[in-house]
Amino acid sequence: MDAAFFRAWLAEAGTVIESQRDHLTQLDAAIGDADHGINLARGFTAISVALDQAATPTPGSVLILAGSTLISKVGGASGPLYGMALRQAGKALGDAADAGLADLAACLEAALAGVQKLGAAREGEKTMVDALAPAVAALHKAISEGADAADALAAAAVAAAAGAQATISMQALKGRASYLGPRSVGHEDPGAASTAIIMGALSEVAQRQVT
Ligand code: ADP
Ligand code: MG
Repeated sequence: MDAAFFRAWLAEAGTVIESQRDHLTQLDAAIGDADHGINLARGFTAISVALDQAATPTPGSVLILAGSTLISKVGGASGPLYGMALRQAGKALGDAADAGLADLAACLEAALAGVQKLGAAREGEKTMVDALAPAVAALHKAISEGADAADALAAAAVAAAAGAQATISMQALKGRASYLGPRSVGHEDPGAASTAIIMGALSEVAQRQVT
């Protein structure tokens, strides 16, 4: 998977986030301040502009530029958290021109570690971690069972979506939604939903490349 693959991933994620912008914002209206879809749509538009303007010859440079862009352009909790995730993911890939499936798993693990370092959320606290952590675990499991990239990333996307759904029954213990206490139960976490979208986009781009 080369730099073009990673640019295609972010472009696909941006397209789906744009189409789901109102849905993500509605999820945030229920337990937050109704800006998650707006924040991410703005952020991914800025990523697309940044990637058009600067040379990003390696997968790592694509992800680091994307992360820095989110940090500088998106307010709220999600901008710095996703920005950190992408920057750490990019750093994990180093200067290599190509990333294999094991590299991609390591890079997503670094993204998760970055989110948890900055946000201190554990699984079960109704955040993006509840989608990202199961996705990383599913990816590792699929790789250990010998899956190819398309199948392993499909498994990761399914796990992220299931993880996002599982946040519905959780009480938020981190972020703005935690102010609602028990009233946060019964709603899907917007950041977990957007993480599922981003992992779905990664799977989609991987399926395309193989076929
Ligand atoms: P804000 O909450 O500042 O309005 P957004 O609405 O863009 O920012 O993003 C909210 C999402 O950020 C939440 O749904 C949750 O998934 C994620 N989030 C908030 N705080 C944390 C945290 N400490 N760790 C991980 N994710 C978090
Ligand atoms: Mg919000």
